[in-house]
Amino acid sequence: MSPHTINPRYDRSFPTCYDPHEALPPARGRLRLWALSGAACVIAASVLLASSGGDMDFYRRQASDPTWLVKAAEFHGHLGPWLIVGAMVGDHALKQLETRGHWLIDVTCSMPADKHKPPFTCLLDGLQTSSGATMGKCNLHLTWEPKRWGDAWPVIAVVRPAREGQAAAGVLYKPRPALKAFLERMTPDRIEELSREMARKRVEDFFEVSPATNLPTTGPGE
Ligand SMILES: [Zn+2]
Repeated sequence: MSPHTINPRYDRSFPTCYDPHEALPPARGRLRLWALSGAACVIAASVLLASSGGDMDFYRRQASDPTWLVKAAEFHGHLGPWLIVGAMVGDHALKQLETRGHWLIDVTCSMPADKHKPPFTCLLDGLQTSSGATMGKCNLHLTWEPKRWGDAWPVIAVVRPAREGQAAAGVLYKPRPALKAFLERMTPDRIEELSREMARKRVEDFFEVSPATNLPTTGPGE
């Protein structure tokens, strides 16, 4: 393990993704010291760095970066493809459902249990920053539902529950082969470059998008 690897749970078995903390220059002494104290301190260090004017060791901001991408990268702590996937889907879903999100939606991401760790779960932070559904509000869920979706993953369902006379509605995102094909182009030195390229594409390039029917529509936080 390299001296600046700060997330021991990071999955290195997936050949198309890399730990961004290893791909970019070593963190400063302050962050390295905190990293030794565990994951909670990593989160605290990210918040500290994010609040210091975007001076992030793990994200090299460019002037051309759109606001939504900056927001996602600074919240998450780096710019990576799984983060971008989540941010794109959440943003697309809010537009499709004509909702402001946050308390007004319910989001479920289905991935195999052995993928319930970074880099795959970076997708959840993208969903949180773009849709406003969060783990804390209990309206963002990580599941694995092979009976419903077969072996496809990630499958993301964004549901707007019925409210104030407005019928329930939802959008379902099932991955196209193009998603994996794009991720297979990733190399450690091109994570940010290819993440930006990904961000310029359409959600439909990577997912089959369809109306979500027969999905649970319990209200957020219930
Ligand atoms: Zn990540």
